[in-house]
Amino acid sequence: MSFSKAFRDPALLESRTLRRFASMLRPTGEAGLEAMARDAERLTRQNFGRTMRLFAPLYLSNECVNVCKYCGFSRDNPILRVTLTVDQVEAEARHLAAQGFRSVLLVAGEHPKFVSTDYLAQGVARLATFIPSLALEVGPMETADYEPVVRAGAEGLVVYQETYDRAAYAELHTAGPKKDFDWRLDCPERAYAAGFRRLGIGALFGLAPWEEEALHLAAHVDYLLRHCWKSSVTVSLPRLRPAAGQFAPTHDFSDRALVQVILALRLCFPQVGIVLSTRETAALRDRLVRLGVTQMSAGSHTEPGGYTGAGGESIHQTTRGKAVPVIASEGEHLTATEQFAIADERSPAEVSARLRELGLEPVWKDWDAALTAVS
Ligand code: SF4
Repeated sequence: MSFSKAFRDPALLESRTLRRFASMLRPTGEAGLEAMARDAERLTRQNFGRTMRLFAPLYLSNECVNVCKYCGFSRDNPILRVTLTVDQVEAEARHLAAQGFRSVLLVAGEHPKFVSTDYLAQGVARLATFIPSLALEVGPMETADYEPVVRAGAEGLVVYQETYDRAAYAELHTAGPKKDFDWRLDCPERAYAAGFRRLGIGALFGLAPWEEEALHLAAHVDYLLRHCWKSSVTVSLPRLRPAAGQFAPTHDFSDRALVQVILALRLCFPQVGIVLSTRETAALRDRLVRLGVTQMSAGSHTEPGGYTGAGGESIHQTTRGKAVPVIASEGEHLTATEQFAIADERSPAEVSARLRELGLEPVWKDWDAALTAVS
């Protein structure tokens, strides 16, 4: 049974693990939260040591065929767009490698014409020669379309459901293939069938009541751990950030609630990786790294060409599927529009140094294709 079928089963949330998880989301005082934090830190150290895996997102394209009301790349937003060539992707990746990164997440809007299977496979094959750990966060695809990308060297696939609230999902996704809630929900299983060895899921908090989102996200984690057991599972809890389109969160998700969800995830799923992005401030990230987080991005840019200026000469707007040139004024260097504004603007070196001050060991790479030869 696929998760989209399990999701319709009223018994989905009745397992012992999920009842325990739900109980941990109930309001609790300082003492209760501190006790959870102590246990979560102990479990994190037991399962992951003092390591913190660092990665960088590399945006390939901000073209998109979907209308998602909360996203800067939404199809009808009059933003500056570009799709990097494979050479430009390599230039961005070499910049990240020079900063120390050996783990890169390739991100793109959903546009099969520009971000095709061939394009992704070519880009991955090129980068795999010097970046040992490559993951994708692109529009959901069929298993057969993922397979060449896995063969080219991609090992991780990240896909956020955005919201597990079916009604809110329909309200927020008004055009494009992303309207299909179940197709997206089953994407991690298609990726697993294609051979990805890391699966990342998440919800974009702020679109529906956080307790419900967290509970269904936990149910999805629980399902993947049981059905896609050969892959490792990571979970992300991104919160909405300012972006083109000026969408405002419809539901609160406070710092305290974020902490409580991270703790509950760690206590109920000790072996699951928890990912933290630069959407959160430096001060909050410094607190969260002690509680259960195991992977973080650093020094991120959320626009294609953001690290090196690559692609600047091809910037355009896209109107009704057609590229409309944008003329730069004299001396102006156009850059593509970012997906959202980041909050932690520290450089990778600064983040790394801070982690060491906090007693953690930054890890730039924790897997290499060579390892599969001996397993
Ligand atoms: S969230 Fe993804 S699919 Fe939706 S508009 Fe943004 S890039 Fe496109």
